[in-house]
Amino acid sequence: MPSVATETVALLQELVKIESVNPSLSPKGSGEKEVAKFLEGFCRERTLPYEFQEVTDGRSNFLTWVPGENPDKRILFIAHMDTVPIDKWESDPFSGEQKEGRVYGRGSCDTKGSLAAMLMALVSLGERRPKSTVVVAASIDEEFRKIGARAIAQSGLTYDAAVVGEPTDLELVVAHKGSVRWQVEVEGVPAHTSKPHLGVNAITGMAKIVLALDELNHALALRAHPLVGSPTLTVSLIEGGIELTTVPPVCRIWIDRRLIPGEQPQQAIQEVENVLESFREGGDKFKVRSLLPALEDPAPDSAESSKIAAVAATACADIARTGKYIGVPYGTDASQLSLVGIPCVVIGPGSINQAHTNDEFVEIEQLNKAVEIYQKIMLNY
Ligand SMILES: [Zn+2]
Repeated sequence: MPSVATETVALLQELVKIESVNPSLSPKGSGEKEVAKFLEGFCRERTLPYEFQEVTDGRSNFLTWVPGENPDKRILFIAHMDTVPIDKWESDPFSGEQKEGRVYGRGSCDTKGSLAAMLMALVSLGERRPKSTVVVAASIDEEFRKIGARAIAQSGLTYDAAVVGEPTDLELVVAHKGSVRWQVEVEGVPAHTSKPHLGVNAITGMAKIVLALDELNHALALRAHPLVGSPTLTVSLIEGGIELTTVPPVCRIWIDRRLIPGEQPQQAIQEVENVLESFREGGDKFKVRSLLPALEDPAPDSAESSKIAAVAATACADIARTGKYIGVPYGTDASQLSLVGIPCVVIGPGSINQAHTNDEFVEIEQLNKAVEIYQKIMLNY
């Protein structure tokens, strides 16, 4: 019989070999389907129950579980199957190659490493029965709109707590930021650039707005959450104009606003509206409007005072000498689960510094410790 550690590495390598780039981020991406199919085979071989939960266009979450002693209590372990696209890799991004104590490949740390560790923690429970029913979910679409986690949150099945797998270097994350993203559009009046006074320049108008939003970003620094720090606002994309000799009639920007626990997406949008309102009331001739948000993902409530955080802290301390409560600036599936009141912690092997980068990898030592941490939580919650 191969050891759990050997099996975990092999499982992760298999998962990395299956390309599962989120199709909303790259039209060439295959999505999660083949990963879910592979997991079906994995569960069949081990006679674990499983279920596909279709979310959209043939893209399904995959769930497997082990019943607990207490039928009324349920804990969710969730890691996503989709990955971000690949850019300039030195090596094959889907090799799953093992070298120097690491497994390489797209998704190895974000978050197929967590997924492999959760599944192996579940499988290697063996005869031991967890207190609560343990559900391991492989979700779709975390990297875009998190509709997989939302479907799990809204499936009607209730969960008492959740452990979200993301690369935290096995640190225990109890709070993180959320985000809201939307566009602002300035409308001007086109004219020949030989007579620009006949037009209204949308780019110039937007330039003033962009600078005002930068000031708003500075003002946000005065607000802070003890674990995740301050909210931020970034103007991340801009496009405008139609050709070289026309006064630009339109200019658009994308805003990426990171939310701290307690801030609502609509509140953040309203703060930008207040800035826009000052331009509407001023002497400028352009029109300005906000478009409907593409993403509204509030920060989850901090899990500091929850039972899952306490149980996870003990497991992290025993196995990895981590477990201090920390906060991080990025988002996870926890935001969707928190919306229905599930307290969530985020723990996983690998570093966020490797996520989304070229030559992504995960340390095998961390991978194996993650199996132990997850299993300890499964047994003790
Ligand atoms: Zn990611």
